[in-house]
Parts: sequence; structure tokens; C-alpha cells
Amino acid sequence: MESLLEQQFGTPVTRQPVSQPVSRQTLHNESLIHYHQALSDRSIFNNCLHGLANTNFHHAEGTDTAVYRMADKAVKKHINMLDGLALFLIFRGRDRKDQSVVATGMIRETGGVKIVYANNSSRSASPEQKDYIDELVEKFKNQYPVDDILKHVIPFCKEKIVQRCKKLAAIFDMNSTTLREDVSNFFGVRSDVAEYTEIETTLRDQKWIQKTTSLSTALDTFLRCAAKLTQLSTTKDIFYVLCLAYGFTIITPGMENLVKPLIWRRMKKMADYRKICIRTRDVIRTIGGSSASITVDQLFPPDELQYEVYNSTLEALNTWSTVYPSDSPLQDFESQLKEYYPDAKEGQSGKIKILFSQHCELTVAKYLLRLKTATKSLLGPIEIGCSKASCFWCDLYLTELNHILPAHGRVINRATHGNLCDGWMMPQALPGYENVNTKVLDCIGCQVETVFACGNDRRRKSDSLPLDRGALLQDDEMQNEILKEAMV
Ligand SMILES: [Zn+2]
Repeated sequence: MESLLEQQFGTPVTRQPVSQPVSRQTLHNESLIHYHQALSDRSIFNNCLHGLANTNFHHAEGTDTAVYRMADKAVKKHINMLDGLALFLIFRGRDRKDQSVVATGMIRETGGVKIVYANNSSRSASPEQKDYIDELVEKFKNQYPVDDILKHVIPFCKEKIVQRCKKLAAIFDMNSTTLREDVSNFFGVRSDVAEYTEIETTLRDQKWIQKTTSLSTALDTFLRCAAKLTQLSTTKDIFYVLCLAYGFTIITPGMENLVKPLIWRRMKKMADYRKICIRTRDVIRTIGGSSASITVDQLFPPDELQYEVYNSTLEALNTWSTVYPSDSPLQDFESQLKEYYPDAKEGQSGKIKILFSQHCELTVAKYLLRLKTATKSLLGPIEIGCSKASCFWCDLYLTELNHILPAHGRVINRATHGNLCDGWMMPQALPGYENVNTKVLDCIGCQVETVFACGNDRRRKSDSLPLDRGALLQDDEMQNEILKEAMV
């Protein structure tokens, strides 16, 4: 049976890496051309990834993955906790961006659990960070007060926390030097609705705010305190802001209806830190508390590698072969491309150095899958937590992997932001799962073909919509529809 990919693009075309220019006619006359063979060449792969990132043509809204949407409540709750744990492992002050994303997984063992985590970087945690993690685990096991746990987390995760606070303040053009003292009721809450009074009363009764403070004033104070935070702020100041965010969003229902959705989302992200402390402590109590055995292991991806790629979209994509738009000058290609992908970068001539790394969710997924395959003892889904939604390529990789895993044993991660990341390193295939890599390469090939089709204006404008999120994802969505129907 033809896959959706084949239905959409015709039988996959395959071709060997081209050493000599071939005409477009020759290309299309070849009966069986598989993209993955050409893309097995690392230089071609890296350049194509860079060229596609330049087009950034999905630029989609973040969305929950299909497998997450289909998961049952308990699995979702567990993934949310793993997402939160990942947040607690993003450390401050390391000079490298690639440590700013963390993925986590959990393996249940007799008498406890093993937690695994990975960065995009292969660098080991420092002795200080390892001590922080050990102490954090002890506090969870011994059911320390939530406030103590949060105060332990703040100094180590300050960078990400302050960043989240600043994102809320940025909505109102506020930062540590611009506090806009002349403005009030930033959030625009209406005091004449029932929810306002309910929230205000609850917060006063539970001593989150003083008896004489109005909700509107409390929100303004909270916002200014958030805006004021910097990397130099004290744990006490940050703690205060995180607690208020928790009070406004978790303690009192209804705030969601008083403020705009973006404000609500950013407040909730700040509240997450306290919420995760409570959730994780509860989970650890259920597995035995102080007598539970809990280990935390860092997983290491392959070393990151720096590669030189062509800066310009056309030159980068064209490393694949010289058969593509030989008849259209570079400038034409770039300008035509922009018609279809308004965000596409022009791209300069010359070369640029890009760091390629294996993304953390794939490192954790591979580890858990290998364990599952080896021990045949891990039943149920492979749950992955991540501090950030996955990129398009990771989502594609996991979707392809899930196509060959049994329905009850799929890898489940929360969300994807849908963007085509530059510098994405494809994981080495696990024995028995080689087909996943092949499919992903074929999909990348299809994407390159699509870009050239647009760049060459071979498509009519009426059917010029970019390949949205890849045929493979549509396949997955369709499967879910079928599953949903089957479950009714
Ligand atoms: Zn990724």
C-alpha cells in the first residue's frame, strides 16, 4: 500500500549522490530515486538542514502532539511532571545555549525510580550541580515544605526563571529599568465581575495578599516585582514573585477569565515552579517517600560537531546536486522563495559555521527504548518530559518511531513548536529501527524538493501552500482520527 508520503509526492525518487551535473530531465526519468541515499552524505544533510532552516517555512503555532492528545489522563499528568522536572535541571550561568533545554524520563524500579535527563550538550553536570540534584532528591524524599524546596531550586535555575518573569513584563513594555509607575491596572481586570471579588476574597483569606490590598493593586505590584528581577536578584525576591504567580493562577479559579490568554499563559509558566515542587513531592511520597530509592542519571548525547555550511539557502540546498535550478540565477530563486515563505532568509554568499547537536528528547527516547528492548520489562508508553516544545525534526523523528512501535508502547512527549531547527543532528539508528532514519531522510528530501518547486515557481500560486507539517504528521493525525472512531 502506498503511504501518504508516496501518494502526495509520487513514488519516492532516489538517487545516488551526484558527482556530475545531471539534467532535471534525467532526474525525473530515473524510475526509483530514494532521497535518503543522497542525504546519507553528512555534508549534504547538514547543508539541506541549514537551507530548510533558512526557509523556516512551518513557523507554526506550538501544538500538543497527537500522541499526547490521545494519551490518558494519568499519562498526561506524568508527562507534565516530567516536563516540570526538566525545568529544575536547567542551570544558570553556563556559557552555552545548548544547555538551556533539558529532557527527562523515569524508570520505575523495585522500591523506587530512576530519573534520567539529558541536555543537547554532552558536557557533564558540575560537582556543584550534582550536589544540588542530590539535595533536591533528599528534600523531595523527606517531604520538605514546598517553600524550602523552591528556595533550593531558585539559585540554580535563576536564569530560566528570570527569563520567564521578564517575558510577562515584556507584554507591558516593562523591564528592570522601566517600571511605568504612572500606570495602574496593567492587566485590565474588571472589578465589577463576580470572579474579581471571589479571587480577591480567597487571596485575602489565605493570606496571599493583605486584607486592605485590592486584587488590581496586587497584580500591579506583582508585575513590577517581576519586571524588576535580574540575574543579580536575591532568592527571596524571586521566591516572592513565583509564589504570587502561583497564588493568582493555581489557588484561585477564574483568573483565566479576567486576563488575556497570553498573560494567563505567561503567569502560569511562572507558577509552574511551585506547582512542580508540590506534584513531584506527592509522586515521591506515593513511591515510598524517605525509604524510596531514587537515582538521577545524566545521559550523554554524542559530542556536538561544528560544520561549515553554505550561508545562502540556494547554495546550501543545492549541495545535494547540481540538477536543481541551474536555469535560474540565485537572486531569482531567493525572491521567488520569499513569495511562498515570507520569513525565508535571503542568505549571504559564503559559508557559515553551525553547531550540530542531538536534541535531548531524542537522547532520552533512545535510551528508554533501548532499555525497553533489552529488558522486555518496561510495559506501557515511553514518557518523555521536556522543558520546551520539540522542534519539527524531533517531532518527525518520534512520529516515525511511533509508527513502528506497538500502540501501547509509543514515545509520548508533550508538544512541538513546529520550527525547522538548524544544526539538528540525526541520532544513529538503534538496531531494528533503521527504517526510522530512512523515513526521516526521505521526508527531508521531500521538503527540499518542495522548496525548489516553489523557488522555481513550478507550482501555480493557487496550489502553492507549503507542505504543511509534513505528510507524515498528517498520516499520524489520520490514524488518531481512526483510533478515536474505534474507541467510541
Ligand atoms: Zn529537536
